[in-house]
Amino acid sequence: MALDRFGRDIHYLRISLTDRCNLRCVYCMPEDMTFRPRPELMQDDELQLLVQLFIQLGFHKFRLTGGEPTVRSDIVEIVRRIAHTPGVRSFSMTTNGLLLKKLAQPLAEAGLQRVNISIDTLDPVKFKRLTRWGEVEEVWDGIVAAEAAGLTPIKLNAVVVRGYNEDDLPDLAALTLYHNWQMRFIEMMPFGDVANFQQSQIVTAQEMRDKIEAAFGALIPVEGGKLDGEARLYRLPEGLGDLGFISSVTEPFCASCTRARLTADGKLRMCLLREYEVDLLTPLRAGATLDDLKALILKAVYHKPWGHGLAHNVVPLNRVMSEIGG
Ligand code: SAM
Repeated sequence: MALDRFGRDIHYLRISLTDRCNLRCVYCMPEDMTFRPRPELMQDDELQLLVQLFIQLGFHKFRLTGGEPTVRSDIVEIVRRIAHTPGVRSFSMTTNGLLLKKLAQPLAEAGLQRVNISIDTLDPVKFKRLTRWGEVEEVWDGIVAAEAAGLTPIKLNAVVVRGYNEDDLPDLAALTLYHNWQMRFIEMMPFGDVANFQQSQIVTAQEMRDKIEAAFGALIPVEGGKLDGEARLYRLPEGLGDLGFISSVTEPFCASCTRARLTADGKLRMCLLREYEVDLLTPLRAGATLDDLKALILKAVYHKPWGHGLAHNVVPLNRVMSEIGG
């Protein structure tokens, strides 16, 4: 078991496979983003070795993210390798869904269990404005393919951005009237060069709930408003699926955080919103022993920050979201 100094059991690793993405969402990265040369990213064997080490230290829940994980050309093989590593109990992916129409079935056959798919609006014009060039129909095809392939329960993510999609919450929430999906609304978090925009255009979880209640009436808390991971769950009256609100900025859930993040260039980041990272890939390439690497991981876990410092205006500047993975 990997415990931090506050006694939290850290067992959930989110792995970014690449910093590249086939979209340029306004809340995620600058339009002129430059990407790391591929040799600087973890290669398949390196990734597999690190996953094995994390499992030996008590990690059992894994999620692939990015950038966009599906743009990695060998994504199905990566999924197969991780899924078949003894000790992996939960294995999912966060994706924009654009490539799922063709990849959902092969990914499911390779052992992926579930997907979270990002869809910030159902309006094609607004979707293009938010993502700078995406086609929302392709995401919809991806959601349908994921459900058909059994990558369920389907969870959908929408980051809410003032001036872009805050009026679309009722339409997104209404998806749960007819589908047993979890529609999650995310408060925008600030990072690096995009932080000013992110802080000025944030919509709080309370405002999101108010907008949905204005359209549908009072939301019904699921299991007394308990957290599901980072999402606080509600239902629409008559709803089949759930609504989740992720309030990382205004109502953080750091006390129950069990996560660590491995960036595509092999840095172990212990809090999404703190710059603290420990490099694993450089020592691995320099010939560190497995015991050395495990000691580095345990040290990083031990020093996991308690939580973010947004209330004190501490914003992480060393990476934007697409370089960390959500
Ligand atoms: N490309 C994939 C996708 O679109 O889901 C995976 C990577 S993306 C960085 C992971 C999640 O982070 C997505 O749900 C995305 O909407 C969310 N995200 C990106 N930037 C964010 C921000 N500034 N604040 C909150 N969530 C953000």
